[in-house]
Amino acid sequence: MDRKAYAKEVIRLLRKRYGPRLQSTLEHSNPWELLVATILSAQSQDRQVNKITKTLFRRYPDAKAYTKLRPQALYPYIGSIGIYRNKAKNIVRSAKIIVKEFNGKVPNTIEKLITLPGVGRKTANVVLANAFGISEGIAIDTHCITVSNRLGIAKTNDAEKIEKLLMQIVPKKDWGRVNHLFIALGRDACTARHKYCSDCILNRICPSSDVRR
Ligand code: SF4
Repeated sequence: MDRKAYAKEVIRLLRKRYGPRLQSTLEHSNPWELLVATILSAQSQDRQVNKITKTLFRRYPDAKAYTKLRPQALYPYIGSIGIYRNKAKNIVRSAKIIVKEFNGKVPNTIEKLITLPGVGRKTANVVLANAFGISEGIAIDTHCITVSNRLGIAKTNDAEKIEKLLMQIVPKKDWGRVNHLFIALGRDACTARHKYCSDCILNRICPSSDVRR
């Protein structure tokens, strides 16, 4: 099977196992909320982020509401998650740039999104795919790194290299979905600590499978 056909089969099987409509599990109702939630989710679990954003979004409903704040004002809301001081600083600075440079609207290109503090390609891709339905790239997180290596798609832990490799073999229409599928697999059968190949839907085609074929 060539690399594109292999990727297509991986996606087909994962969609069969985890469903075709997987989305970001970060709760949000507009692009600004998703941007804030994604910045907060770095090195933290989505469910921890969802616990704190309800109150935060009610208190500060849009980017403009953050522009007069000092980062410390956010500590009571986000202090339960990791590296919150840094995240507070990035959220307030991003809000100021969005209001000043982008007319209060979250920009919808990677080029502009990565000019915001605390926003790299992964965060930009998450916001583009889930808030705007735009696929300019593929959001690569730690699950995607583990799964891509075990599936033999990559031999590196470099997220940008893995993103490029996936963009070469995954059809563009699936760029916004493939990371959700890999995340679902990485939380379920193919975790960083252990692979549960006997329960994995890819165990007949994966080169790292320990199930006898
Ligand atoms: S077969 Fe095993 S190694 Fe391959 S993706 Fe599934 S759990 Fe991971």
